[in-house]
Amino acid sequence: MSTPKQPAPNSLRPQTIAVRAGQPASSLREHAEALMLTSSFRFDSAEHAAQLFSEDGSGDVYSRYSNPTVRLFETRMAQLEGTERAIATASGMAAIFACIVSLCAAGSKVVAARQLFGATLGLLENIVRKFAVEVVIVDSADPQEWAQAAGGKADLFFCESPSNPQLQLFDIAALAEVAHAAGALLVVDNCVCTPILQQPAALGADLVMHSGTKYIDGQGRVLGGVICGPAELIEGRILPYLRSGGPTLSAFNAWILAKGIETLPLRVKEISRVAAELAEFVATQTGVEYIRYPWHPSHPDYALAQRQQKAGGGLVTIYVAGGQPAAFRFINALQVFSLTANFGDVKSIATHPATTTHSRLSEEVRTRIGITPGLVRLSIGLDDPADLQADITRGLAAI
Ligand SMILES: *Cc1c(COP(=O)(O)O)cnc(C)c1O
Repeated sequence: MSTPKQPAPNSLRPQTIAVRAGQPASSLREHAEALMLTSSFRFDSAEHAAQLFSEDGSGDVYSRYSNPTVRLFETRMAQLEGTERAIATASGMAAIFACIVSLCAAGSKVVAARQLFGATLGLLENIVRKFAVEVVIVDSADPQEWAQAAGGKADLFFCESPSNPQLQLFDIAALAEVAHAAGALLVVDNCVCTPILQQPAALGADLVMHSGTKYIDGQGRVLGGVICGPAELIEGRILPYLRSGGPTLSAFNAWILAKGIETLPLRVKEISRVAAELAEFVATQTGVEYIRYPWHPSHPDYALAQRQQKAGGGLVTIYVAGGQPAAFRFINALQVFSLTANFGDVKSIATHPATTTHSRLSEEVRTRIGITPGLVRLSIGLDDPADLQADITRGLAAI
């Protein structure tokens, strides 16, 4: 394998990184990124095999340890997030679990937001706690309350900004300061913004993770995840768990994700532009109590969103008047928006979180974190904006 000529990563802008970074090349001189679908790698001799097994990381041996196509995806993600390294996982949840398992032990303390992806909360409360790791869930985004929850000492802080589906913002720089004062590492789930709109590591986060399943694939095809951060944490702490635990990303999925990244900057910009326009439109319609969109002036953290993000992103949350029956009538009348639980796809999607993605939480918890029966999450894709606006109008008329 030879690598084609590559400019120094630091000199490249995101759109160029997205289409060029980390490209492996075989002796066949292909231009597009090859898919190295192989579980193991041949050795030239018994001595070569012995050498690769003794020098950890000097060459590919077996795809649970490393694979050139997976490395392509990792390189693109690390450069886009502005971190030294990145490591891929089989899904977003595998990335979150890898962070916790690698960085915590019995007696550790994790402080996490209540406003998290449903499966993340379930993982922390039902599984991580079984291993004698203390999990403290904080209801508020106020860094002072996080400091109190840490009680002077913690191992890991975990937040998602903006959170899905309420689009609650967290001040990443302020939270990083509080985390570090307590001796904790801050992990930020950057799924909703993607590195195109927000680079948490530049704001002080220690690790940044993604579900590649969302905007990074962008076309709803495969599951995948990634953790970005300094080599010391990625190689020193997380890699040993992935090699032995096994939740590594398949080369095929890595190839899909790496190719998805090529259009990520353009998709995220266009999707954000259309989402902002639709948010503005929906906010004024009858049948809508209020909306949440980070870059809409009605958002409680509008100033923070303008400072922390380069645009508002592709999710628009609508609170329709009339609770669940009205939300269901709205969703059932839609003809363009797909009814599915994913987001970040080029196909626009409508979801009712209270009865689907967040149905396992108790009603009391859902109410506390703002996932009310009237909440509908719209994930804006690349459908024609006029068709989306007409569809929303159709939905609201049905309420
Ligand atoms: C989807 C999602 C995850 C989990 O990712 P999977 O790839 O489905 O495992 C984690 N965090 C957020 C914010 C998500 O939206």
